[in-house]
Amino acid sequence: MAFTCRECGKKVTIFNRGMEEDLCTDCSIRLTSKRIVEAPKEKEAEELRIAKEAAEAAEREAYILNTILVTTLPAFEGKKIIKYFDVISEESFIGTGFLSELSASISDMLGTRSEAFSNKTNIAKANAIKMLKTRAFEMGANAVIGAEVEYMITNYNMIMYSVAGTPVLVEEIE
Ligand SMILES: [Zn+2]
Repeated sequence: MAFTCRECGKKVTIFNRGMEEDLCTDCSIRLTSKRIVEAPKEKEAEELRIAKEAAEAAEREAYILNTILVTTLPAFEGKKIIKYFDVISEESFIGTGFLSELSASISDMLGTRSEAFSNKTNIAKANAIKMLKTRAFEMGANAVIGAEVEYMITNYNMIMYSVAGTPVLVEEIE
């Protein structure tokens, strides 16, 4: 029945046997209390790490949105293009339920713009532009020229918002 403790190597008999199979009483108590103390610390550290990552992602996103310029024009006034990248495009989809809402407010559509319609397309458009800016940033560009936005209705009550353009690196003309 005797064995050696996996922690301290001490001989373990029925009199000093720990809670766990291969530990002596001393090591069993020490490891259990260590777990009780460390578990909340680890959880807290994990939560802090997640919060920090989220904050960094938000900061990066805000930086990209504020820094990358997008224009439908082929150039920026006061800036010169020093590098062109391959054309990119990004698509954003709006989910189901959209068309039923759309047909419900179709008369509204004929007169003023439907609020539901413009809200949803604005969200999709903003998403597509955000994705375009992020992609351009990741390629090493700081602007997108010749941007074209269009939307189309796809199957399954989806609307697709697409934005395409040419990422470029621009600098101020001195
Ligand atoms: Zn031990």
